[in-house]
Amino acid sequence: MTYKGDDSSSRLRDLPQVERLAGALPEEVPHHSRVIAARRAIEQARARIRAGGPSADLAELVRTAEKEIALDRRRRLVKVINATGVLLHTNLGRTPLPAEAIDAIERASTGYSNLEYDLEAGLRGSRYVHCTQMLIDLTGAPSALIVNNNAGAVMLVLAAIAAGREVIISRGELIEIGGEFRIPDILAASGSILVEVGTTNRTHLKDYERALGANTAAIMKVHPSNYRVVGFSAEVSASALSELAHANGVPFIHDLGSGLLRRRVSGTELPWLSEEPAVETAISNGADVITFSGDKLMGGPQSGIILGSGAAIDRMKRHPLLRALRVDKMTLAALEATLNLYASDREHELPFWRMALIPVEEIAHRAAAIADSLGGTACKVEITDGHSAAGGGAGANTLIPTSLLEVSPRDRKPEEVIRSLLDEPIPIVARIENDRVVVDLRTVEEDQDSTVADAIRAAL
Ligand SMILES: *Cc1c(COP(=O)(O)O)cnc(C)c1O
Repeated sequence: MTYKGDDSSSRLRDLPQVERLAGALPEEVPHHSRVIAARRAIEQARARIRAGGPSADLAELVRTAEKEIALDRRRRLVKVINATGVLLHTNLGRTPLPAEAIDAIERASTGYSNLEYDLEAGLRGSRYVHCTQMLIDLTGAPSALIVNNNAGAVMLVLAAIAAGREVIISRGELIEIGGEFRIPDILAASGSILVEVGTTNRTHLKDYERALGANTAAIMKVHPSNYRVVGFSAEVSASALSELAHANGVPFIHDLGSGLLRRRVSGTELPWLSEEPAVETAISNGADVITFSGDKLMGGPQSGIILGSGAAIDRMKRHPLLRALRVDKMTLAALEATLNLYASDREHELPFWRMALIPVEEIAHRAAAIADSLGGTACKVEITDGHSAAGGGAGANTLIPTSLLEVSPRDRKPEEVIRSLLDEPIPIVARIENDRVVVDLRTVEEDQDSTVADAIRAAL
């Protein structure tokens, strides 16, 4: 109830109109966003007055509304600077795409395309012909199919090959692939029945042999991408499993996850990749179906790639789930451009490999330049040896030697510096280790070094 002279009701009345507050906000912000922010700021002021608190003058309302605008901006999909040194950082969008892929996306999406049109026959075609021949030529696989992501690929493979029947997998490979999704859940959703064999740390061939039966649809191996069992452990090799599967007349499925397309990258063998299973190796080890992500070690767009026999791929093409996992034209365009770089031995130009291959000395040199520019600020700076990570579900031990910039702030907590870096116009994501702010420039574009330096200086 209000009555004449009620203090709070007059203060509510004195608050400005939404349009007036919106008019006082920065002009470069779109009118629509200003109105929404103004409405929220006035709503907050009203709530405070109703709760018996003080009113807000125009200057305070403008500040509140500007904070709302900044919050909205941070909730949008924006560019960030990845100073974590984790190359395939799933939270930061895994891998940047090469310029060729961006051009291809533009060509395929600013106008119409032959996405599902056969230009030779002048008739309706299939979107699943794109990239297929390139994948076959690059890997030697008999046939290929592309879906939205690798989790979708695994699901489609199992639904098409093993629905209602048993799939044998080692307990050591029942992994969580991130975002709380687990291989057993995907298997269950596909309608196939999981038969776990062995133990977490040791699984032997005889464990698989004992589990084989009349209802077995497949033997499956899953690359335990983001973790590793060390010490007293044993797993059965892919070649032994494919032999066992074939002797029993069932297919062998290998979910490679990270999808290292070639053992050598533009002709160079990389020691930190020595334990990573390559696609070509998985094929020569006799897998009937192989699945992997397009946006892990392959360095392309988000996609799931399935390689396999013509008969197996045809079953997947006829499965209704394929429609639900349908790959988009922009993905196909970017994937084709990515595969084309491999086909012309230019994969080192893909941003992922380009960053992975930067020599440590070069990173140390760039870190030293930033350290110099921080002279006279309230911190201690050190350059130390460390490791970048392939990350994002590539092998757990794919650690790349790097040089780290370590900043120990004198007057602020490391957490405050991290917060301040995130509040930059282009947010910068770094990490804290041993009470220091740690920056790995391997994942930072060189022309952003000065932005990082300025932001650190401002944060101190
Ligand atoms: C990453 C990964 C997946 C999931 O792939 P997405 O492309 O992220 O869907 C599935 N299996 C393995 C072994 C993986 O490493």
